Amino acid sequence: MQIEIVTIGNEVLSGRTLDTNFAFLARALEEVSVQVVWHTTVGDTAEAIAGALRQALGRADGVVVTGGLGPTPDDVTRKAVAGVLRRPLQLDEDVLARIRERARKSGRKLAASVESMALIPRGATVWQNPVGSAPGLLFTQGEEGKPIILLPGVPQEMEALAVEFAVPWLKSRTGRRVESFTLRTAGVFESMLQEHIGKLPAKWTGASLAYLPSYFGVDLRVTVAGPDHDQVGEVAGRAYAELKERVGPVVYAEGSQTIETVVGEELTRLGLRIATAESCTGGLLSKRLTDVPGSSRWFERGFVTYSNASKLELLGVSAADLEAHGAVSAPVAEQLARGACQRSGVEVGVGITGIAGPDGGTTEKPVGTVFIGVASPRGDAVRSFRFAGSRTTIRERSVQTALDLVRRQLQGLPLDPSLDG
Ligand code: AMP
Ligand code: MG
Repeated sequence: MQIEIVTIGNEVLSGRTLDTNFAFLARALEEVSVQVVWHTTVGDTAEAIAGALRQALGRADGVVVTGGLGPTPDDVTRKAVAGVLRRPLQLDEDVLARIRERARKSGRKLAASVESMALIPRGATVWQNPVGSAPGLLFTQGEEGKPIILLPGVPQEMEALAVEFAVPWLKSRTGRRVESFTLRTAGVFESMLQEHIGKLPAKWTGASLAYLPSYFGVDLRVTVAGPDHDQVGEVAGRAYAELKERVGPVVYAEGSQTIETVVGEELTRLGLRIATAESCTGGLLSKRLTDVPGSSRWFERGFVTYSNASKLELLGVSAADLEAHGAVSAPVAEQLARGACQRSGVEVGVGITGIAGPDGGTTEKPVGTVFIGVASPRGDAVRSFRFAGSRTTIRERSVQTALDLVRRQLQGLPLDPSLDG
């Protein structure tokens, strides 16, 4: 089934509002193997909406429309759809009652215009909006019963209706089963992964493997879809086992789990606590760690030691080493990590020192040179890196790499990521 998504709104057309409704819907439909093949955005006029809908019905097997369902005069989607589908607008008593009930509960006085949201083209299936007044509407049109789905423009409402009704409904129409999983990797390039995985996915009938690179590493997302439900289940299970076996050593998490969450789990499992000492990342590492709910159980404190003086005073870094090797050096990273744990009385410490740029690089230590130290009961270690990119990217990569080093250290893995076990 090939779907067209039509998003409506002058604010979207002008670029002032990012079309997150499209992005959300397209992703959600892709996940259930419903193909999105066209995307149109039009402004808030009945003519433009009618034109877009006619065009979509002419080329797609189904249309999802968002926006313009509200009560204000610029919300004309219902009227335009009524025209194209030749279904007169009718007052839906149930919808009206729900709109009034919502207003009563929230103690608001209902503007008369709000009731216009209960004027609905005839023959709609009404999907009650759990977080707002405008319901989602489903029409099936013509001999083939082409679906036309209308959803409100407010992203929170659109998302709720999409997740609860529109996406499952379209998915069930395909009759296909879809299974997917994501393995998150860090420390290796996409090209290395591709080479290492090779033609493995060719053995998985109905499966596709997507490489999704970001600052945080490369996510491997496998989707298996097909009409034979048993086969999809079998292939998905096999694909998971085979891919995990192939790339396991660089997988830090599955699904949408973050690396800082994994680090927190490892610290909890081992009964350890962590402290950070950051120079070039200026607190970004402690920010990421404290993003994790419940991190107070294992995060002790973070030092932002930007100046040499603070490295000496707060963490006891050796003045001689600072002098001999410079602040951006392996001995200083190691002493930052060690100092962080000693000064705060915990077991695990991380130190980051580097040149985030754009200035400050030398031939010997160009911009992007970063040293990361890890101190733990399993021993102390330090690694050096050369990250490419902007100041922001270098800082993000430093933090992600530091988190992966800690994870590897806590899990008793070799510190240097390698695909060969
Ligand atoms: P509407 O009901 O179409 O007037 O939309 C209500 C609000 O939802 C608009 O003011 C926008 O802020 C937001 N909105 C509408 N369409 C989109 C879209 N495609 N993506 C993100 N936000 C949207
Ligand atoms: Mg609008």
